[in-house]
Parts: sequence; C-alpha cells; structure tokens
Amino acid sequence: MSKFDVRFMGKIKKIAVMTSGGDSPGMNAAIRSVVRTCAYYRTECMGIYRGYQGLIEGDLVPLTARSVNNIIHKGGTILKSARSKDFRTKEGREKAYQHLKENNVDALVVIGGDGSFTGGVVFNKEFSFPIIGIPGTIDNDISGTTHTLGYDTALNTAVEAIDKIRDTASSHNRLFFVEVMGRDAGFIALNAGVGAGAEEILIPEEDLGLERMLESLKKSRRTGKSSSIVVVSEGDKTGKNVFELADYVEENLPEYEVRVSVLGHMQRGGSPTCFDRVLASRLGVKAVELLLDSQTNLMVGLQNNKVVATDLEKAIKGQDSIDTELLRVSDIMTT
Ligand code: ATP
Repeated sequence: MSKFDVRFMGKIKKIAVMTSGGDSPGMNAAIRSVVRTCAYYRTECMGIYRGYQGLIEGDLVPLTARSVNNIIHKGGTILKSARSKDFRTKEGREKAYQHLKENNVDALVVIGGDGSFTGGVVFNKEFSFPIIGIPGTIDNDISGTTHTLGYDTALNTAVEAIDKIRDTASSHNRLFFVEVMGRDAGFIALNAGVGAGAEEILIPEEDLGLERMLESLKKSRRTGKSSSIVVVSEGDKTGKNVFELADYVEENLPEYEVRVSVLGHMQRGGSPTCFDRVLASRLGVKAVELLLDSQTNLMVGLQNNKVVATDLEKAIKGQDSIDTELLRVSDIMTT
C-alpha cells in the first residue's frame, strides 16, 4: 500500500456487497473488483446473497480475494439476485439493518438498477448507513453514466442474434419483427438496430406512428429490398405488442411475409464483453475508495470515459435522453 492510500484508512472496517434486481453480465466482475479492492486496502468484505431479501434473512458470507477467482468472465451473479417485497416495509429494513450490525458491516455496495438504488436511498435515510451504488442493468436507463454494466454485452448479444435472423430473412424474402429488451428505454433497440442495419426501429422514447412504418416498408420494397428487419423495443409507443404489429403489417402490406422473433432473456445472459469487464473493475475500485473516504449516497459511473460519482437520487430520477444523432443516422441508413 502506498503512502497515498493512507487517506483511505478511516472508520470503515468492513464492507458488504450485493447484487439486486435484474441480473446483468458484468455483475460478477464488479463483485470481484469490490472484494479485491477491499483486500488491497486491508478492509474486510462480506457478500450478501439474494440482494435485499438475503440481507433481511441474514444470508451473508465473508469474501476474500480468493473467493472471487475465475468469475470475471461469467454471466449472472455468484451472489444471486432477487426482488424483495419485504425490503419495501419498515420492518423488513429494520431486520436488514440488524443483520448488518450483527456482522459488523460498516458500509454497503449495491450493484443493481434504479429500484435497487431507491431501496438504498430509503435505507440510508432511515439508518444513516453508508451506501454506494454500481449501475448493473442491461437497459442502460440510469443517469450519470453513459454505460451501465451489462448493457454492452446485451447489445452485442442482440446484434449477433439479429445478424442470424437476417440470414434466414433474406433467404425467404421475409420481413422480421425482432423484439429486444427495454420497457422504458430504447438504448438496446436503437443501437442494435443501427448496428444490425434494421429498416425501422421502434423505441419507447419516440412515436413514429404506424403509418410512417408502413410507408417506410413500402418504400423498401419499391427500392428493391427483398427482406427487412424491424427492431422493436418491448415498451414501444405504438400501443401494439410485437405480434399485433406483425399482424397489422400483414393486413396492410399483403406482399410481405411477416415473422416475429422475441429475443427475451438470452439478452441478459452470457459472458460479459471486455468493455463490461473493464467497466466493472473500474467502478468496483471507485465504489470502495469512496466508502473508505467516508462518502455515501453516490453512484459510480462513466462519463467521457472517466469514472465519476453522481448523487444516487439524481441517478435514479434523471434518465439520459435518447441519442437524436443516432436516430438521424438510422433514418439515413434506411434510404
Ligand atoms: P432492473 O433495472 O434490472 O429491474 P432494479 O434494481 O431496478 O433492476 P427492482 O426490482 O426495481 O430492480 O428493485 C430491486 C429491489 O429494490 C426491489 O425488489 C426492492 O426490494 C428494492 N426497492 C425498490 N424500490 C424500493 C422502495 N421504494 N423502497 C424500498 N425498497 C425498494
């Protein structure tokens, strides 16, 4: 340990880490980073199984640098994840606090999405318990970071799947509607759509209208395209689900043979990309260093390729808007 690192030797002697909400690739790499950074600073570390629910049930284990061998490349989370109704109650949170105290835990790192951070903020307000959040969700729907853990992997998984669908679409002159994840945010749809060369991209942030989509598909046919891909975000604004959309197009454009593919949970799994592993490693180090430096209620994230801290409440409330430049690129590419 260098002299410089002495500033990190404060009141925090033991840190616990958990993964909460929907799992995402890169969570294991983040756990590894938190655990090893604790070891580097001679700070004890515990893992909490099954997020807030495991904390309420006292499901904690000590973790050492060796406990996290060989997990950097694995999808999912070795600590498991859960959604906890009990943590939404005062009694549940009191039990959680008791377990932290019994185990002499001084601070918490929560790896999860906006719901997990909301729980963390509530908990901090009630018990003044130090908390730092690491954004782990494939949806990328958190402010204060250009990338959440797992987003890059999910995007690449979606592009790879759409490439494969394109092969069969072009062999049979078919139109494919491909649904990707993203109930409230269209980051995966927009980026995977541009990356996979989709004809149309339907996202929750923008309502293009069904007529426009029909016009665009008609134009594709007129200009000689024999197959087409439309990427649809789960939460698009058309008011129709992906199967209804396909029926609507078949009714209005009988010249098209339409098929639907819902990519679903495969987008959550798989080995994290190098980008997600590196990001997880950087965010884990920063999260522990902030806690050792007596800081709390922050989320660590990436901005302009620098690791930065954002107020946890701001990270939850503000949602970064969709990239209009990318929407324009998508329009031009479908000419
Ligand atoms: P994802 O974005 O992948 O869905 P998430 O972290 O947003 O992940 P949620 O299910 O929304 O997932 O939240 C995870 C957990 O956080 C909830 O199951 C609950 O235990 C806790 N939580 C969420 N909101 C609150 C709240 N208002 N008060 C207390 N706890 C909460």
